[in-house]
Amino acid sequence: MKLTRTSLSQRSDQIYDVLVVGGGAAGLSAGIYLQRYLLSTLIIDKGKARSFWMQELHNYLGLSPDTPGREVLKQGKEHYLSLDGDYLNGYVEEVIDEGETFAVKVRIGRTNPTYKVFHSRYLIAGSGIIDHLPKLVDMQNVFDYAGHNLHVCLICDGYEMRDKRAGVFGSSESSLGVAFPLGWFTPYITLFTNSEFEVSPEFRDRLSTHGYQLIEQPIKQFLGENHQMTGVELADGSVVELDTGLVSMGSKYHTDYLKNIDLEYQGGNLVTDNMNRTSHPRIFAVGDLKVGMNQVVIAAADGALAATQIWRDIRRSEGTRHSSPAAINAA
Ligand SMILES: Cc1cc2nc3c(=O)[nH]c(=O)nc-3n(C[C@H](O)[C@H](O)[C@H](O)COP(=O)(O)OP(=O)(O)OC[C@H]3O[C@@H](n4cnc5c(N)ncnc54)[C@H](O)[C@@H]3O)c2cc1C
Repeated sequence: MKLTRTSLSQRSDQIYDVLVVGGGAAGLSAGIYLQRYLLSTLIIDKGKARSFWMQELHNYLGLSPDTPGREVLKQGKEHYLSLDGDYLNGYVEEVIDEGETFAVKVRIGRTNPTYKVFHSRYLIAGSGIIDHLPKLVDMQNVFDYAGHNLHVCLICDGYEMRDKRAGVFGSSESSLGVAFPLGWFTPYITLFTNSEFEVSPEFRDRLSTHGYQLIEQPIKQFLGENHQMTGVELADGSVVELDTGLVSMGSKYHTDYLKNIDLEYQGGNLVTDNMNRTSHPRIFAVGDLKVGMNQVVIAAADGALAATQIWRDIRRSEGTRHSSPAAINAA
């Protein structure tokens, strides 16, 4: 059931088997599996998933290669709700480990928000990441192209960039290093620092060996129309023509709500075992948030693995949730 401010009271005393933070590809997949294991589930999602910014999902078996991410989310949510899972639009602020259960504090609504605490036995962190973008004076100019032909993921979109004039926009010398694997797809590469960091002589040598151009001037704006970027205008008014771009500036990891819990991280990613259990026995991590490959197919598989392990845990500790036939007959 889709919970609203008014229907929240119906779930006041409930202890869910699993609370899933994030209703992207990973969280929805987990929710579908959990409900099919007859476990009670609440997914809480603040919206604007990375999957939502994905204009076309190019590489998912069984889906047309121009399927928009928002369509995957819509279908996934409908599927989950059809299995009687609970779903709430809200922002998870804090998780407290109470021993047997978690207390999960949620903010609901932006203007005049209300707060509610939910309880669950297990927690799945499927809250993902979000890509940092070039910081220009007019950010709308960046949003006009990001996720269209200004890509953020080489694995997702290297194929779309093949043999095209590609700009690489980095936030450090190491982040610009993505130009070298991009060279598998196209030799026509120009790197941009936006005047934000220095580049070492060794790196310059490496670029010139590959025949890549380096531009260190500030960027004034991206050029183009209808969400198709055609180049970059620099601070001095000169124009670099491009057919496509790749932003490589790192990401924000959505883990603030886990700050009170001691978990193992690698960089910003949560470390898990092969069933996606973190270093806490009742917290699982799925999708882009965990160490691994940031792809929808992986996120969906992660959800299946985490849900299956949680079902195994609960089944092994409880045995069964059914009354015996004799007890049913006696009732
Ligand atoms: C432009 C673009 C193109 C891409 N193209 C492809 C492609 O072609 N193929 C491919 O396989 N992958 C592609 N990807 C990658 C793919 O989108 C991700 O790997 C996938 O979305 C990860 O799913 P997720 O569920 O882990 O995270 P997300 O989809 O980001 O979902 C996480 C959800 O958690 C929510 N959340 C975060 N914090 C909180 C909180 N505190 N409380 C409540 N909710 C919270 C977020 O708002 C979000 O809705 C692309 C990504 C981008 C950005």
